[in-house]
Amino acid sequence: MRLSRYFLPTIKENPSEAQVVSHRLMLRSGMILQSSAGIYSWLPLGTRVLKNVERIIRQEQNRAGAYEVIMPTIQSADLWMESGRYNAYGDEMLRIKDRQERDMLYSPTAEEVVTDIGRKFMKSYRDLPQMLYQINWKFRDEIRPRFGVMRGREFLMKDCYSFDLNFEDAQKSYRTMMEAYMRTFTRLGLKAVPVRASSGPIGGDMSHEFQILANTGESLIYYDADLEKLMETETFDIEHLMGLYAADEEMHDAKNCPVPQDRLKSKRGIEVGHVFYLGTKYSDPLKAHIIDKGGQNITVHMGCYGIGVSRLVAAIIEASHDDVGIVWPASVAPFDVALLNLKPDDEKCTKASDDLYLKLQQHCLDVLYDDRSERSGVKFATHDLIGLPWQIRFGSRSLESNTYELKNRRTGEVLENVSWDNLIDAIKGPHKSCCS
Ligand code: ATP
Ligand code: MG
Repeated sequence: MRLSRYFLPTIKENPSEAQVVSHRLMLRSGMILQSSAGIYSWLPLGTRVLKNVERIIRQEQNRAGAYEVIMPTIQSADLWMESGRYNAYGDEMLRIKDRQERDMLYSPTAEEVVTDIGRKFMKSYRDLPQMLYQINWKFRDEIRPRFGVMRGREFLMKDCYSFDLNFEDAQKSYRTMMEAYMRTFTRLGLKAVPVRASSGPIGGDMSHEFQILANTGESLIYYDADLEKLMETETFDIEHLMGLYAADEEMHDAKNCPVPQDRLKSKRGIEVGHVFYLGTKYSDPLKAHIIDKGGQNITVHMGCYGIGVSRLVAAIIEASHDDVGIVWPASVAPFDVALLNLKPDDEKCTKASDDLYLKLQQHCLDVLYDDRSERSGVKFATHDLIGLPWQIRFGSRSLESNTYELKNRRTGEVLENVSWDNLIDAIKGPHKSCCS
């Protein structure tokens, strides 16, 4: 992408409306634009990140054996009357009437619609287990939309639903999804703590929230100090992790806490995911019944599993930034590398930069090519702000020596006299294969 022609409306000054760093940096780097309260347009740079986050979530959902579907965002009130939630949901639900005066709503979640799919097509024990998920926009008329896309009114969610024959099988699905979540958050460059949680309006008997530790988080969580230590290790066992104490504010009971005071920690967290065992909360009123092995008519056991896809973009920034801008983990970065032509007025340097731009693309790299006729200082500031993992600073030195100057955005280290092979190896990293 040539930056001279790209749509990247960056902002120099800190926008006064933004209270948290992720919101500030998303506005300043031209990722989003507020359209109305809690509702945003995603601009090209933001869209690339959102799609990358989505891709990793999708791959891990597929790997867990869930199948992707797309369910309606506009839903009929009838199904919600059947579950009893149409009246119970309250003001967070956006209620709409169509031209026939029929009651419709903009989906805040999709238990009713997915249970309807289940009851129509899953008739026998042979049809189970089953997991269906979608990545789709939700609307909740939050009282206080704030912190940019962190708490929006319209937001992108991954919502998965499991259908099982009995409690034991439902626990297996729950566990499978927990593992998928741990893998997903690790790939996104995040340390997410699974925290025992109260179930809230969605209901059910068992639930875990996944929390990213950050001072700007809206939740307060309590946990065993060993948990943080365990998560520092490269490979940890999920059984071990779930055995350690972690609870949200509502679940935490100071008097009966099993963790001794000196090992109990409390921090703020950003909730990026939530898993629930639902039991028969929806399958019962919606009559999602199947015939079991013995020929009995039984009610399906369900689970639901959400990830805040758009919130994650902000959470990643909260967890990974410095004084001058964003520091993207390579897995979600909007481009792999920035190429800065430091002498745009020099014909030779520009020709060599153009050639390098093509050569990098031939190695399947996504390159943001800063070909603007701007001073080096301006270019450095732009690229530190938007936070691609690597910057190639191409100027007269490179031209003369036929080597490269490479800046690692995370460490700030500038490597000089880098050979072509080392340049490619560094940018691709150990995990990125060609065209993946
Ligand atoms: P919260 O306590 O933050 O309101 P919730 O319990 O209402 O979240 P769920 O219904 O479990 O959220 O939704 C699944 C995920 O969707 C959450 O874990 C969160 O990451 C994300 N999410 C929920 N509400 C919003 C919102 N208003 N804006 C952005 N993301 C959201
Ligand atoms: Mg909520």
